[in-house]
Amino acid sequence: MEKFSSIDGIIGDVGPEGEEEVKECFAYRFKKQNYEGLSEVEKRKTSEESATVQLANQLTNEILRRHDCGIFDIPEQNIHIIKEECWQDEENEATYFWDLQAIGIKERKSAASLLEITMHEMMHMKVRNFVQVPIGLEKSLTNVKAFSNGLNVINRGGGKEYFENLNEAVIEEMVKKEILEYIDSEISDQEIAETKRIKGGLLSGSLKHDLAKNREDIEDILYASCDESGRIKEVDFFCYHKSRKMLDILINKIFQNKENLEANNKNEFNIKAREDVFNVFAEATLKGEIRRVIKLVDRVFGLGTMKNLAGFENKTDADGKPFNDIDGQLEFVKKLGEN
Ligand SMILES: [Zn+2]
Repeated sequence: MEKFSSIDGIIGDVGPEGEEEVKECFAYRFKKQNYEGLSEVEKRKTSEESATVQLANQLTNEILRRHDCGIFDIPEQNIHIIKEECWQDEENEATYFWDLQAIGIKERKSAASLLEITMHEMMHMKVRNFVQVPIGLEKSLTNVKAFSNGLNVINRGGGKEYFENLNEAVIEEMVKKEILEYIDSEISDQEIAETKRIKGGLLSGSLKHDLAKNREDIEDILYASCDESGRIKEVDFFCYHKSRKMLDILINKIFQNKENLEANNKNEFNIKAREDVFNVFAEATLKGEIRRVIKLVDRVFGLGTMKNLAGFENKTDADGKPFNDIDGQLEFVKKLGEN
């Protein structure tokens, strides 16, 4: 189905007319993008930046095509590059604003970094997105809140998020695969050629950098540059390292224990290679089908496994603040299937 905004539907009984109204409202915001105060903080894109944003749109559409999903173009005007001195979010360097139908990105220093971050945020717009009117609220447009983004779901009472780490991991991993494939085919780009040279140097040991200690770290490098004396100056990695590590271990474990799937009914997931497991996660993310992932994981490791996994994301720290315990989640996944 053709998308006119990132919002695919609404949860909560607003009726067909209400649903239409919500969709129209988001389609309008998607198209207009005339937000107050934006022009003062937004950087006018250079022609290189425009080209990178367009490339990000093409490559993310390629991901959709690869998984038999309809493509969805995000116009350049929905990507707002914010001047470094005006960026106020200390935790994140980019955000997808579902309510504004816009992506805000802190000014980048390299084309590779702009490509990666734009693709990542674009994927948040291109996966299935639902909004909701939380239980107990009057069914009106002003009460529309976020509900789901890919595998990431917010409960119907509002406030609690589930499977955020998994969603970020799958999105970034899809982006990483696509970028590495693009980089492999690119021979004329200087920045890419230099990064390839530096990665080669790190792998062979002729170059050293504290941040790239082992093979896994080196393979995760997105961009690197050297100074005039040939020493490594900058190294930039694909993001959500811990979440992707967790996903990687989870996929390996599912693959190692895939006979449990066959024992529990027929193997409807049709898993023959490790890549097939990743594709279940990728397709479930694109189509917003967390239930499919729950079914897969719970069939392999037992009922309630995914519920326990989600529990790590809704902890409270010593000061009573909400806390996403990714380290605990990672340890939990490492122990799966070991009795
Ligand atoms: Zn993200």
